[in-house]
Amino acid sequence: MKQLTEEDTIQKPLPIADSDSHAMWEGLKKGELLLQHCEDCGHVQYYQQGLCRICQSKKLVHRAASGRGIIHSYSVVHRSPGPAFRDDVPYAVLLVELEEGPRMISSLLGKDFTHLAIDSPVAMKTMKISEQVFLPCFELVNLADK
Ligand SMILES: [Zn+2]
Repeated sequence: MKQLTEEDTIQKPLPIADSDSHAMWEGLKKGELLLQHCEDCGHVQYYQQGLCRICQSKKLVHRAASGRGIIHSYSVVHRSPGPAFRDDVPYAVLLVELEEGPRMISSLLGKDFTHLAIDSPVAMKTMKISEQVFLPCFELVNLADK
């Protein structure tokens, strides 16, 4: 077993695309959140899998989501879960209910937590982590701007 070095413990874990999620990670590079739509029962799912979670159909197609949703729940993290996240605290973890139905865990862009609230509208952005990895995150939508 490989011994962890200090460098390993300060590296943030990165997602690894598999055959189910590859399209989603490619979509994020273009600023799109792709969700799987079942062509047999209409179910929309996130995260990606080989089968529909409702009817087990394999007829799943990716379609771009609107990127809009509401905050179903959230938590502001003040204590770093490890050395890799030491410089990030405080940060907000969001459970976003997407307009299309699925809920996804993500994070809030920025550190202004004063207007964070359940049911607040949010819009997806992406953070470029590397040439291969763009992570989805969300920002609060100011209703006065609409
Ligand atoms: Zn289905």
